[in-house]
Amino acid sequence: MDKNKTDLPPVYRNIVFLTGAGISAPSGLATFRSQNGLWNNHRMEDVATKEAFERCPEQVHAFVNSLKPEFFAARPNTAHLAITKLQQIYPANVSVLTQNIDTLHEQARTKNVYHIHGQINQAKCLQCGHIMETWEDVGTKTVCPACGISGKLKPDVVLFHEPILHEQMIADLLQKADLFIAIGTSGVVYPAAGFAAEAKRNGARTVLLNAEIVTGRNFDEQIIGDAAETLPEFVSRLLLSVKS
Ligand code: NAD
Ligand code: ZN
Repeated sequence: MDKNKTDLPPVYRNIVFLTGAGISAPSGLATFRSQNGLWNNHRMEDVATKEAFERCPEQVHAFVNSLKPEFFAARPNTAHLAITKLQQIYPANVSVLTQNIDTLHEQARTKNVYHIHGQINQAKCLQCGHIMETWEDVGTKTVCPACGISGKLKPDVVLFHEPILHEQMIADLLQKADLFIAIGTSGVVYPAAGFAAEAKRNGARTVLLNAEIVTGRNFDEQIIGDAAETLPEFVSRLLLSVKS
């Protein structure tokens, strides 16, 4: 028997990624809790909660608008591209649940991406439900292009104390997953922090690729390092197992 073959990972059928701010850090977008993280310059209660939007929508709009130029300019890195490569070559359903509000997975041409915290370049009309896509500033005077009413647009990013998006899809994917890979996520923000445990309960192998170790028993394996290096290597290894 070919010894190398027996060392290869098994072939998976349903691969689910959970990506966090760490996958976009090599593209220059700061994570929230790092030393230069966004929370160091802002009070989260003022700019990123449901209550802040109800109290003072201008302040939340201004915060989101202030992030847009940097997010617009960012480009995908080798980690985003590795997911696309896996999706194009590996014979499994490959889906991505992302906590990121950037559009780097889309720019990398990854399919089946679910933004559980929304997207920075979208705003939702609370009057008619229309989702407007724009990199321009949005504010309390912006007119909804669908219903023509102003003052009803909310940045379509999930604020603290709001429910996440795509809950049914998440439950279905975590039910079916046989390989769950979390990348660049501190495991602090729930409910996403519970996804690995859920996938593991349902029988998936769980792997974390992160810059730092995360405590707890949710992961069968942790690969510590820069995702821009560790993920392409991890994907290459998965692809070896399906090469004939
Ligand atoms: P987080 O900031 O809490 O944690 C990021 C994790 O990534 C940390 O554990 C860190 O060690 C790790 N990390 C940093 N650089 C890395 C690298 N090069 N390679 C691998 N790992 C790296 O972020 P989170 O867990 O995603 O959750 C915070 C929230 O912040 C999310 O809800 C997300 O919506 C939001 N956020 C999004 C963006 C974005 O869209 N790019 C940026 C900042 C924050
Ligand atoms: Zn409208």
